Amino acid sequence: MAQIIDGTAAARAVRAAVQREVEGFQREFGSVPGLATVLVGDNAASATYVRSKHKACAEVGIASHGHELPAHTTQEELLHLVHALNQQPHISGILVQLPLPAHLDTDAVIDAIDPDKDVDGLHPINQARLFAGREGLRPCTPLGIMHLIDHTGIEIKGARAVVTGRSILVGKPVAFMLLERHATLTICHSRTRDLAEEVGRADILVAAIGHAEMIRGAWVRPGSVVIDVGINRLPDKRLVGDVEFAAARERAGFITPVPGGVGPMTVAMLMQNTLTAARRQLHRAR
Ligand code: NDP
Repeated sequence: MAQIIDGTAAARAVRAAVQREVEGFQREFGSVPGLATVLVGDNAASATYVRSKHKACAEVGIASHGHELPAHTTQEELLHLVHALNQQPHISGILVQLPLPAHLDTDAVIDAIDPDKDVDGLHPINQARLFAGREGLRPCTPLGIMHLIDHTGIEIKGARAVVTGRSILVGKPVAFMLLERHATLTICHSRTRDLAEEVGRADILVAAIGHAEMIRGAWVRPGSVVIDVGINRLPDKRLVGDVEFAAARERAGFITPVPGGVGPMTVAMLMQNTLTAARRQLHRAR
């Protein structure tokens, strides 16, 4: 029976560590890191995510600056705001909540963010830094996944890691982070010929597909670490991951639940990224 990886507790510990470091930052520099959030339109889920980010900022002592723009905001207006935030020294990180309304060009908006304030780690320069194995801001969910894997105490170096999913947000960045840590890597996607066979080889499995319980418990390698990123709502309103949890738990060594696994880590890592960005900007300014 697998040990459950408690993402809620791990996220709490990360936030507590960030809080201590923010206090140290304030003592050293006389100011606190600042996170600007940009929310365009009235998507209820996006508004909830932004609220949870502001709440986390308040908890760790980071100053949050919310910018709420109407759904009819033009590309020029949005770019103007991003450019202004790039220039403001008290803003350490800029988070543009996605998805943007369809008339806006998301890529152009992300490209406009100063890469050193790109706390979501989505700017092409930060993606290139990850690809090249250079220091940079990494995306929050993959950072949280790596933190949870480390939390198990297993050695990543030399382990066979299988990532199912190759999105820009989760699959690809986490795959490169595992490679950076010397895992032997396989990336699976919708055209993978035999997903069960690939999953069966994984010492570390990261499932980021978005299909409810698609990865069957019987496929899971005994003793492996299973990180389930998927968040899927069933018709009966229950939330489940991409892995058939009950059966996988019988075989895995460690497994994340859904909810309460990867989900809480994302906002905690956003706090950590904002602190990292603030430090880097101060060093850049010196
Ligand atoms: P995307 O839809 O962008 O990507 C899904 C990936 O899964 C694609 O690469 C796709 O392959 C692959 N895929 C689809 N069908 C199959 C299949 N049958 N077999 C193997 N691979 C398949 O999703 P995201 O990466 O953004 O998100 C994945 C899941 O993680 C979602 O449930 C999302 O809600 C959740 N999520 C959770 C977060 C959190 O906990 N904080 C944050 C972000 C996401 P192909 O490229 O070939 O189409």
